[in-house]
Amino acid sequence: MSEQQEQSSSDTLASADTLTTDIAIVGGGMVGAALASLFACANPRWSITLIEAFPLPTEDAPAYQPSYDDRSTAIAHGSVALLQQVGVWETLSQYATPIEQVHVSDKGHVGGAVIDRHKVGVDALGYVVPNAWIGRVLIRHLQTLPNITLLSPAKVNKLTPVADGARLQIQAEGQESTLHTQLAVIADGAHSRLRASLGIDVDIQDYRQTAIIANIGLAQPHQGVAYERFTDEGPMAMLPLGGSVDGRTCALVWTQPTEQAEEVLSLPDEEFLTRLQQRFGFRLGQLTGVGKRDSYPLTLSVAKEQIRSSLVVMGNAAHFLHPVAGQGFNLAVRDCAALAATLAQAGDRPLGSLSLLQAYWQQQELDQQATIHFSDQLTKLFTSSKLPQAALRGLGFVGLECVPPAKQWLTLQTMGKASRQVML
Ligand SMILES: Cc1cc2nc3c(=O)[nH]c(=O)nc-3n(C[C@H](O)[C@H](O)[C@H](O)COP(=O)(O)OP(=O)(O)OC[C@H]3O[C@@H](n4cnc5c(N)ncnc54)[C@H](O)[C@@H]3O)c2cc1C
Repeated sequence: MSEQQEQSSSDTLASADTLTTDIAIVGGGMVGAALASLFACANPRWSITLIEAFPLPTEDAPAYQPSYDDRSTAIAHGSVALLQQVGVWETLSQYATPIEQVHVSDKGHVGGAVIDRHKVGVDALGYVVPNAWIGRVLIRHLQTLPNITLLSPAKVNKLTPVADGARLQIQAEGQESTLHTQLAVIADGAHSRLRASLGIDVDIQDYRQTAIIANIGLAQPHQGVAYERFTDEGPMAMLPLGGSVDGRTCALVWTQPTEQAEEVLSLPDEEFLTRLQQRFGFRLGQLTGVGKRDSYPLTLSVAKEQIRSSLVVMGNAAHFLHPVAGQGFNLAVRDCAALAATLAQAGDRPLGSLSLLQAYWQQQELDQQATIHFSDQLTKLFTSSKLPQAALRGLGFVGLECVPPAKQWLTLQTMGKASRQVML
């Protein structure tokens, strides 16, 4: 945060009772920050306040923040177009690795599907960007926008709906203050306390799987190939990193049955690499090193309500997906763009008007259902021993290669282009 913004944040907190904003976003993770920049692009006259519990990353101090950890994100073609529109893609692309091909395969079955950017006629099928870099670039961008106020570290302890909007109780530096907003967006993550405090239920399906992530060193360049490999223990992905096709590092997402994840996490580096090489094979040659490992228990969690008058639930707080198909952030970006574009049509209506929010929801409901179904079914198809799934699985990706519409469908999903995307 710049000195000027730090000053203005603490000033506003001091005069707590009178603080008002048009839009308050709770949670400055990848989705909250992306949403703030899309809102600012949609209408520079809206005042937007972003409240984040952890210190936000800065140039000199990339402090720990849950969203901007050691993971990397596959950003789909469609999301890149939106990030270009808000003006952050040029900087983000400095550490973005283009995906030239996606290889999908099923351990123990012949064949595999290859999606090639040349055949699709695009520069890249998507890009892989380290989350820490996404955080730094988004926050730095927000700091340059005059209509954005960043409150961090500051925590929203309570959200109360009121007649003309919502009231937020914020705690920062031991002080409590109140913020009035026309529209409150809850983007405080999968275990959203605010969502729960408002009585919004969540449908939860436990996959009993845990994703282990780490950066993996390679003996040879990855050539921009992203691998999705399905195994009986769960899917694994190796995404190309390093900013170019010559890179020799991949971002691993290795799904394990939860009961064995702890053991794999604690293996010495050499044993970890040997186990990984056994599961993944030699498609990328010899695996030479492993960075810091982390783990994420996997569920499919979907909020049963995402809009109320003056309230929207977004990002992981709205839907937490299995990471197998790299859809969670990309879906959230489409939600954010649709919300920003709908609010831009508000005219004289308050930004929290229920009819506006219903229009947003009508636009995104189908996209959410289709994307959630896609990642959920993909996960189940390749880990299930039930008969219909096992039979389909037996066809392997040979079947997929032989049926052009099926392959086209997989390609569009992978690129985040299966659903209509709103531009600002
Ligand atoms: C292993 C893995 C790999 C993934 N890979 C991909 C991929 O390749 N492509 C893709 O599209 N998606 C991917 N995803 C999904 C993607 O990471 C999520 O969609 C994204 O992180 C969601 O961000 P969020 O901002 O909604 O939530 P979070 O990242 O959880 O952020 C929530 C923020 O809210 C803050 N907060 C919480 N409570 C409060 C409060 N009361 N007051 C103020 N602040 C608060 C927290 O500090 C946090 O910063 C992956 C997920 C996993 C687990």
